[in-house]
Amino acid sequence: MTAKLTTQQAASTAALLTITTETPFNKRRDCWFCGEPNQYVFTCINDSETSAKKDISQLSLPSCKECYQIAQKSVTKAEHERCHYSIWTIKAAVKQYLLQHYHKDLAIGINWTKTELAESEFEQGNFAGFQKSAWFMFELAKARVSYASWPLIVDGITILDEYQEQSFNFDDVVYPNIEQAMHHYANTFSLSLEYFRSVLALLGNDNFAKAVRFCRLLVAANADERQQALRQLRQEVTAHKLRTSNNT
Ligand SMILES: [Zn+2]
Repeated sequence: MTAKLTTQQAASTAALLTITTETPFNKRRDCWFCGEPNQYVFTCINDSETSAKKDISQLSLPSCKECYQIAQKSVTKAEHERCHYSIWTIKAAVKQYLLQHYHKDLAIGINWTKTELAESEFEQGNFAGFQKSAWFMFELAKARVSYASWPLIVDGITILDEYQEQSFNFDDVVYPNIEQAMHHYANTFSLSLEYFRSVLALLGNDNFAKAVRFCRLLVAANADERQQALRQLRQEVTAHKLRTSNNT
């Protein structure tokens, strides 16, 4: 009896939901998450707060098989752990998966330029195939990770992307947040994540490239040397701030 009532309640609630979303004509073959050709439709009840009102809507989004599977997993996990989820937490989970999945391919673009790779003299022998596919894979990975999903509009109101402000754009790759970008660079260059975090905290997020270079300079240093370098950097940053504030 209870189960039947619940089903009926669910059905009547579903009838009140707005079914969206319009896919722009030029994106009609794209996966909403990553831009690859779509074969599936991912459907979820989206429960997200906008500045204007609380929106509950049913979203149906075209999706590729891979993103569809990750998105479904993310919903199952959130329901199992009784966590709040929305289309934006699901999208963040898909992007995080893609970033990890393509870690090695994205590292190619960090370590090489296209020309350097073409001139790397691996055309013969065991690495010829790798040389040929590496840049293609890097560009594919970059495009999927950085793909800008089209806005979701329900009854003329755009559902605000709760995670948009957190995304971090560096060297043409859009990371879900700066933490993911730090993990990626720390892994790629075998840097200590904690050390990188300390350096970036000193230099500020706008100096991400400088923080990477600083840590790479010290990659072979021991713990004492690294701490000493961090103290010197702190002094330099403090002195620079003092100079700037005296000049204004
Ligand atoms: Zn996809």
